[in-house]
Amino acid sequence: MADMPEFESEMHRTAVAQLDQVAERLHLDHETHIRLRYPRRALVVSIPVRMDDGRTEVFMGYRVHHNTALGPTKGGLRYDADVNMGEVTALAMLMTWKCSLMGLPYGGAKGGVRCTPRGMSKRELESLTRRYTAEIMLFIGPDLDIPAPDLGTDEQTMAWMMDTYSMTQGRSVPGVVTGKPILVGGSAGRREATGRGIVYVLYQAAHSLGEELKGKKVVIQGFGNVGGVAARMLWRDGAVIQGISDFQGGVWNSQGLDIRALDEHVKEAGTVAGFPGADAISNHDLLEQPCDILVPAATGSQIREDNADRIRAKIIVEGANGPTTPEADAILRTHGVLVIPDVLANAGGVVVSYFEWVQGLQFFFWKESEIIARLQEIMTRAFTRVWNVSKKENVDLRTAALMEGVRRVADAHQIRGLYP
Ligand code: GLU
Repeated sequence: MADMPEFESEMHRTAVAQLDQVAERLHLDHETHIRLRYPRRALVVSIPVRMDDGRTEVFMGYRVHHNTALGPTKGGLRYDADVNMGEVTALAMLMTWKCSLMGLPYGGAKGGVRCTPRGMSKRELESLTRRYTAEIMLFIGPDLDIPAPDLGTDEQTMAWMMDTYSMTQGRSVPGVVTGKPILVGGSAGRREATGRGIVYVLYQAAHSLGEELKGKKVVIQGFGNVGGVAARMLWRDGAVIQGISDFQGGVWNSQGLDIRALDEHVKEAGTVAGFPGADAISNHDLLEQPCDILVPAATGSQIREDNADRIRAKIIVEGANGPTTPEADAILRTHGVLVIPDVLANAGGVVVSYFEWVQGLQFFFWKESEIIARLQEIMTRAFTRVWNVSKKENVDLRTAALMEGVRRVADAHQIRGLYP
């Protein structure tokens, strides 16, 4: 098959290789299979920004629509120093499988800007976001492509995007992005959705294994929107959170960290590092501690061929997108580690994004309790479906989840046919 030099990157090669394997298992016909290997459209933009010191810097930005067979495209926007076209394209493909697996009426998309947001002022970030939005204007819209937060972006980023888009339309268009602040059309429970989804999937995993989460030893990489929320919920449910890390370092207490006290510390210090009542631990060592549940909820490629052998967790729940490389996956499999894959584990975010989009289109907002109940139901059902496929087909959970995700998109292609 033709290769794709446009998207050349490790992550893209992995995403396509995964699709190829799943296509073979599903006995997909050749036409459908090759259509799924390519993104529908991919846009590259340059973003000139006047920096605070008066210089003009030019950043590179991307937005990729992978597939539109099930509906308009959906996916996050990331600001990160490693962003490139190949990575964004691979992540867009993952979004297609994720939305499909969760039964959402969306195809997958992803956007990114190569920058270091921690090193930029709020004004610089606003200029960057507004100019990026203007450059991808024709690519987004409530029934075309709906961005959301991802690594390095947040509610404020979405508010600026929504405002920029709305200004060009001469009216407020809340449905163009999700993950907005509640005041301007965001949904209750969106901020916590990904972390909550992880915990609901874990409840169901424990149930399927005939165990309970109470007393389980947990290690979490990342204490932001995803890791932080999961930590608080698991702690309240009686799990023992032994280790947590963030971009500045990690903390460890084998008796369990007091998460409420840790929250107080982070409010003051801006990082978990230096938390009294715990030992310091590097991010690297944290991943290799023996535990029941490891939640990588930071960035990609954290569990690799060179450290997978030393991972001593029983269950890994992928809060981040792509935290485990395929080589590491194979090693973990031989060690009997249960990996709950990203497309399932972190899908709570896009599920509540869907709720936000629906609420915005109807100008009718639901109570947080409704959001939570519906999220839990969808996560639980998806986990059970993936678990059953994995048992029936004798495959790991990642393969089972991708089989479910790819199959629905392939079926939609077959029903819709090939234009013209
Ligand atoms: N960035 C999140 C993800 O990777 C959420 C995407 C969305 O809500 O559209 O799933």
